[in-house]
Amino acid sequence: MSNKDRQFRPVAVPDVRVGGFWGKWQDAVCNATAEILLDRCVEAGMLQALDVRRPNPGIVIPIQPWGGTTQMFWDSDLAKSIETIAYSLYRKPNPQLEARADDIIDMYERLQDKDGYVNSWFQRVQPDRRWTNLRDHHELYCAGHLIEAAVAYFQATGKRKLLDVMCRFADYMIGKFGHGEGQIAGYCGHQEIELALVKLARVTGEKKYLELSKFFIDERGQEPHFFTEEAIRDGRSPKDYIQKTYEYSQSHEPVRRQKKVVGHAVRAMYMYSGMADLATEYKDDTLTTALETLWDDLTTKQMYVTGGIGPSAKNEGFTDYYDLPNDTAYAETCASVALVFWASRMLGRGPNRRFADIMEQALYNGALTGLSLTGKTFFYDNPLESTGKHHRWKWHNCPCCPPNIARLVASVGAYMYGVAADEIAVHLYGESTARLELGGSNVTLRQVTNYPWDGKVSIRLELKEPRQFALSLRIPQWAEGASLSVNGGRIDLGAVMLDGYARIEREWTDGAEVSLDLPLTLRPQYANPKVRQDAGRVALMRGPLVYCAEEVDNGGDLSAIVVPEHLPETKTSIMRDLEDAVAVELPVEREDTQNWGEALYRSKPASRHEAKLRLVPYHLWDNRAPGEMLVWLQAEKRGA
Ligand SMILES: [Zn+2]
Repeated sequence: MSNKDRQFRPVAVPDVRVGGFWGKWQDAVCNATAEILLDRCVEAGMLQALDVRRPNPGIVIPIQPWGGTTQMFWDSDLAKSIETIAYSLYRKPNPQLEARADDIIDMYERLQDKDGYVNSWFQRVQPDRRWTNLRDHHELYCAGHLIEAAVAYFQATGKRKLLDVMCRFADYMIGKFGHGEGQIAGYCGHQEIELALVKLARVTGEKKYLELSKFFIDERGQEPHFFTEEAIRDGRSPKDYIQKTYEYSQSHEPVRRQKKVVGHAVRAMYMYSGMADLATEYKDDTLTTALETLWDDLTTKQMYVTGGIGPSAKNEGFTDYYDLPNDTAYAETCASVALVFWASRMLGRGPNRRFADIMEQALYNGALTGLSLTGKTFFYDNPLESTGKHHRWKWHNCPCCPPNIARLVASVGAYMYGVAADEIAVHLYGESTARLELGGSNVTLRQVTNYPWDGKVSIRLELKEPRQFALSLRIPQWAEGASLSVNGGRIDLGAVMLDGYARIEREWTDGAEVSLDLPLTLRPQYANPKVRQDAGRVALMRGPLVYCAEEVDNGGDLSAIVVPEHLPETKTSIMRDLEDAVAVELPVEREDTQNWGEALYRSKPASRHEAKLRLVPYHLWDNRAPGEMLVWLQAEKRGA
């Protein structure tokens, strides 16, 4: 069987109900984040900017050196908040919050022009600047987020109003973009519309939206360069570009020729997500081949162990290979969220743990750290070590991250499963019930587990009539010694593995039980010696979770902790003040700071004493007393 002949499309968010670990996080979003997002958008003045019945507030956030203002993408902040609310309403009805979302949707309907155009900035603040600077002004980016919100709101509530508004806008775009007379042969400087149009095509069944997405992807980076010609047309110098290079927006060459992951991290991930969707829909091997090259480039040379990406604040993106500074890591929450998006879409042409393992790593570490346990505060950048001065924000001048991590958490069930014509894949483990449709019949999967704290997973299948299909279960690469049984009978994993998934094809009957045991032992991770910032250091993982040391558990001077090469026996404990997270304790040595003396330098290394190290999951750091944090600990020298 050729793996790539299959087409896996994401399941709708309302089809999966999660409990356990993710249930608690979703409750935090339902009970706090969803409303907070909306409140803070309102405080920022976004509704006043949108509502045609109120005077237009004009430019609230001044134009910045790059030629625009973050106010230009307020529609995207509102859209991601509505998307989060949509998912939260499915989990927990909230008539008040739903009414507020309905009000905003009414405002968009009133705002929309007769021709279908809708954008609060370019209709109310700078109407004469519409479609004049696609490179910088995020016009299609905002449209993309509104489309995603529309699809989510329709799926969660059955209400079509925003979906209809955005279909009208997309229909307008189909006329506006192309190579014909009077059309724009261009694309957006911040990718997002591409993946959104695929969502719109899938929910409406309209292939025309796929075609427009494909147009944007195919045009990108072609010569003569659209952004250069656009700038000249608009009376701007193409060289007067604050980012200096089209690599920033991955438009430096046609997408199928790109081999290196460059530029702004979120732009890159959103683009690859759209490309992967199109690769699935069109079975386009040229896109898949390009994406696989880019995937390896990112994950073998440019990704933090947390799944954080984009080390530099300067371009919010990539620098050089193996450049992964820990204390100044930008690693924007949005970028890890977007890596989850990309990874999940790489599973569209068939399950493969090469992608799913990284999806899980980015989800549990680089992305989830962006949200506090209460759901009320947020990280924008995500360093892997801190002297104690990095803390969660209430809000941000560019509030892209809070609604991005919130919508991911609130929709995480959809990332757990994939469905093709005669196959169900379980990509992620977690307490959940999935009601899936497989070629016209219903199959329910009930996953019972305390994952990721415990590696035992049991899945019960419910179906009306016996049915032949394949169930593919990811066996993570780290899960050495994993075991699997079906209805009590042990399965020889070696005989059923395909691309890192145990693929069990048989006639499944109602009540079938699958049991999986993924051993969770603390394991060391060493970085490629080319990563200078991690030389002589070790990070520790347990299952999909990266662990870190915090001052609140271990005192200060965390860099004095020395982890032995052969990990001693570890102890786990339940952290009541961290929502029952599992902490890991192990004996280590610690360099003495007390008896070092006054000197800054001396010829003798520090003496050591025995100590106990407590590690907690990285995603939970800075939820208790503030202080130092360290992921990459000093590693014992070999043979010492
Ligand atoms: Zn962000």
